[in-house]
Amino acid sequence: CDAQRQQPPLKITQPIPNKSLSSIQHPWSKEVEQVLRDQFRMTQFRHNQLEAIHATLAGKDVFVLMPTGGGKSLCYQLPAVIQSGKTRGITLVISPLISLMQDQVEHLRAFGIRAATFHSETKPEDRKHIMAALQTPHPERHLSLLYVTPEIIRKSESFQRCLETLSHNKRLARLVVDEAHCVSQWGHDFRPDYKALGNFRKEFPHIPLMALTATATRNVITNIKSHLGMEDCETFSQSFNRPNLYYEVLKKDKSTVRDIANLIMRKYQGKAGIVYTLSRKSTEKIASKLQEFGIAAYYYHASVPAEEKAATQEDWQEGNIQVIVATIAFGMGIDKPDVRFVIHESIPKSLEGYYQETGRAGRDGRPSECYLYFSGSDVFTLRNLIRDGDGSEQQKARQGNLLEKAIAFCRNQTDCRRVEILRYFGESLSAAECGATCDNCRANDKCEMQQDFTKYAVAILMLIRHRGRLTSNQCVNFLLGRKASMERKGLEQYYGMAKRITKDDMHRVFDRLATGGALTENNVTHRTSQMVIQYFQLGPNAHALLSGEQSFAMVTKTRSDSQAALSATEELAGKPIPTYRRVRFVLPAKSREDYDSEGGETS
Ligand code: ADP
Ligand code: MG
Ligand code: ZN
Repeated sequence: CDAQRQQPPLKITQPIPNKSLSSIQHPWSKEVEQVLRDQFRMTQFRHNQLEAIHATLAGKDVFVLMPTGGGKSLCYQLPAVIQSGKTRGITLVISPLISLMQDQVEHLRAFGIRAATFHSETKPEDRKHIMAALQTPHPERHLSLLYVTPEIIRKSESFQRCLETLSHNKRLARLVVDEAHCVSQWGHDFRPDYKALGNFRKEFPHIPLMALTATATRNVITNIKSHLGMEDCETFSQSFNRPNLYYEVLKKDKSTVRDIANLIMRKYQGKAGIVYTLSRKSTEKIASKLQEFGIAAYYYHASVPAEEKAATQEDWQEGNIQVIVATIAFGMGIDKPDVRFVIHESIPKSLEGYYQETGRAGRDGRPSECYLYFSGSDVFTLRNLIRDGDGSEQQKARQGNLLEKAIAFCRNQTDCRRVEILRYFGESLSAAECGATCDNCRANDKCEMQQDFTKYAVAILMLIRHRGRLTSNQCVNFLLGRKASMERKGLEQYYGMAKRITKDDMHRVFDRLATGGALTENNVTHRTSQMVIQYFQLGPNAHALLSGEQSFAMVTKTRSDSQAALSATEELAGKPIPTYRRVRFVLPAKSREDYDSEGGETS
């Protein structure tokens, strides 16, 4: 039904078979293939790499969307060494993390490619050396790629002058913005220093830009393009589906860490994985608990000294440590192909974060599993963290919004996880394509039924039309006939009308109305509690349902046991399924310092 329909999916470029690729000839085509083989020592291009390389060598602006591990770096590293395209000189790469750029430069140097980094920790003599090289008539003889932090672009006037000279001498081949989602305030990892990159288009109107990201939300993409002034760029995107990953959401309770230990011991003997948790303290606690079970686990968070961080990561890459227990500070720059499991010991702050974090599993394409432990107390903690955070009201509202979507995802025990994740990114996939590689599809296999929910959808809309705006809880509780503080006068016919529907299903109806544009969100900060409250109003697509032009159907299932999700681990742990346990409220840690933001060591 239309109310459920998403915005049209992102245009996905189809893979072009290699045969037709070789028939698209450019003056630089031969050299490109040669460099791939001889310098990068790779045998073939991955999806979209060659297309992006041709476009940038032709002097066009290019936007590359590829899942983590897809091979974005090659899209600018390879053209950087080609001097027979329409552009000449140095490729400047803006990258958010010093460690990340250093890894890349080492990698390139091992291939005999001249590359350097320039950031806050670069020694003065190295800085001088680089800046002198940039001002020679043929800087490309000294350097093919220069990696800089956005901070340098923003702060260093002498570096800015160097760039102007480079551009004036026609020796600035292209400007590359890696991890481009950091530009967007809508993204999950906004970095204020990236804002300065918005001037690139004005300052260097004729230099080709390239932006790369693994973020796929439409808002963020539009935002990045407009911020960088690259509305007319060539966009290369592909499906974000990760077919080799299995997704499952489990209930979190007191024995969760023990369950995790059992799971690792039984299923992942000698196999590497990551456990994500919310706070620094809990990384340490969980790691030591896992150690008690004899698991080689170690913690990682933003306040671990840099050397120790590097050592931990290296030990893990090499297999000396089996499990890293980390906050989201552990992420960017991980390049381990054989991560077999990613466990979220607590709910991620957004679905985007969840996608990125789980995306670190199975980069080698082999089956890998992602488990998420969900509890109301973590939701409580995160809501408080947002409330007490120091962002602006608007930022808090956005964070609240992202969190609510992650909560809806966790609570959903019906729809395919894969479909829901991709739906969030504006991509549509049919549940059949999941092939029962998520908990919900596995359960759905047993009993599934298409049901007409039109009258409930209409009731939600009518209620909101009468009241102007409502939260999803206010609305759903009223329709379910649960204790509702809302005035019933004039609305008697709606109170309790959905008694026979489960609360979960009513929330799903609500969620679908919102994503289908029948409802729109409006976030408000509560005056006394300072909590961000997500209100809903009628959206542009409400009319079709209210007028009866459209109906609203949804798949439901009759899963008798809300514990079904637990069964997998319990089976593994070899013990009976426990009865429902009350969720204990955990008070948020005293200091917000205990919670990391992505990337940790912002440069
Ligand atoms: P991303 O930036 O998209 O997360 P990277 O550029 O770091 O991904 O690439 C991930 C891994 O894939 C790297 O180890 C890289 O060497 C490898 N890779 C990239 N392109 C190819 C290719 N065409 N053939 C083989 N390996 C590749
Ligand atoms: Mg990358
Ligand atoms: Zn599924």
